[in-house]
Amino acid sequence: RSAALLARQERWESSARTYPRHLPIALAEGAGSFVRDVDGNVFIDFLAGAGVLSLGHNHPELVAAVRQQLDSLTHGLDFPTPAKDAFTQAQLSMLAPELRRRTRLHFCGPTGANAVEAAVKLCKIATGRGGIISFRGAFHGSTHATMALSGLVSQKAPVRDGMPGVHFFPYTTGGPAPDSGAGNGADQLEQALRDSNGGIPLPAAVIMEMVQGEGGNLVAGTDFVRRVREVTRALGIPLIVDEVQTGCGRTGTWFAYQQYGIEPDVVVASKALSGIGLPVAVILYDTALDTWAPGAHIGTFRGNQLAFAAGVEAIRVIRRDNILGNVRRRGAQIADRLAGLTRNPWVRQVRGRGLMWGIDMADPLDGRPATEVAAAVQRRALRHGLIVERGGREDAVVRILPPLNVTGEVVDTACSILVDAVSRPAA
Ligand code: PMP
Repeated sequence: RSAALLARQERWESSARTYPRHLPIALAEGAGSFVRDVDGNVFIDFLAGAGVLSLGHNHPELVAAVRQQLDSLTHGLDFPTPAKDAFTQAQLSMLAPELRRRTRLHFCGPTGANAVEAAVKLCKIATGRGGIISFRGAFHGSTHATMALSGLVSQKAPVRDGMPGVHFFPYTTGGPAPDSGAGNGADQLEQALRDSNGGIPLPAAVIMEMVQGEGGNLVAGTDFVRRVREVTRALGIPLIVDEVQTGCGRTGTWFAYQQYGIEPDVVVASKALSGIGLPVAVILYDTALDTWAPGAHIGTFRGNQLAFAAGVEAIRVIRRDNILGNVRRRGAQIADRLAGLTRNPWVRQVRGRGLMWGIDMADPLDGRPATEVAAAVQRRALRHGLIVERGGREDAVVRILPPLNVTGEVVDTACSILVDAVSRPAA
């Protein structure tokens, strides 16, 4: 039945050509960290809606909150509503009090890309400058501007006339980072910005991820992030941190930037804000940037009351159940369980933070990304009941994004499946 549904959707709908190409299942229902396909097979879901389902599928308390909201108001456009107010206050409550006082929140439309677009516009309007600096391997979305800010040449190349004025610098990790360019990105950035003789003009913003998820689960180095912050602050360039994937607890703190001891000027959040997959996207930004006129960034679907109700409940559950503590403990468990994989010659690196991990696979002879081997690992994991994702240049990094409330037992089972799949991908 999965195959039949997939064939039907491929016939009529081109978006079915993405995930199901490598994970050929049709989903019927989900519960917690598990999902059942239409044929009755049950899988551990370590894709979790691309990191969206932070409290797993159909968390009962979130479902109840949505049901209750469903009876009063579903769509509120931009009008003030109690659900929207509660959501805004809940989000702000996750920031340090000092920061909260100088933070504004803007609802941007349903997706992460909408919010990145808003962040870029905000900074262009506030600085009066064009040009944005991004980093190699970045992913910020699939709209024109966000695609231009992303590294994915394969997606960009066929689309002509992308957004001009984007410059890329190497993304520097704490350890060796095979694909992100040579040298220290912060040094090169500073040199280019301070060079009055062939450098680049001051941009409207620098945008970066603390962990490049789609880019292959590359974790930014602490020095790198701090230096980027120093340089941007010294030169008056707003720093946008894209926390669409790393945010809402994914890396063990509410936002990943909090682990780097920096304060961005703009934070972008979306995916897990509702905890249950209802669309919502925001930017949180320094009031000093608040010079854009009313209506500068609008959108019909900014008032999803169901997402707001779920998001408020998600934060309540995350606090009550110490979910951030669980992310750190389960993250350490995964690090421990996957550490031995680096003895496998095809595994170049195992890296991650919190509940965001990647196994980087490369050919031991020539060091090239081992796309086919990673695909075989993904297929074998699926056959044994575990859904994993791939990313990075050439899709050679096997990635996991478990729900943040995953149990130690499920992590243990999933790691056994993964270790087996990496050890014998072709079996
Ligand atoms: N930024 C980052 C860091 C992301 O990981 C993603 C989605 N994978 C996006 C932006 C785009 O979000 P959306 O797909 O909701 O537009």
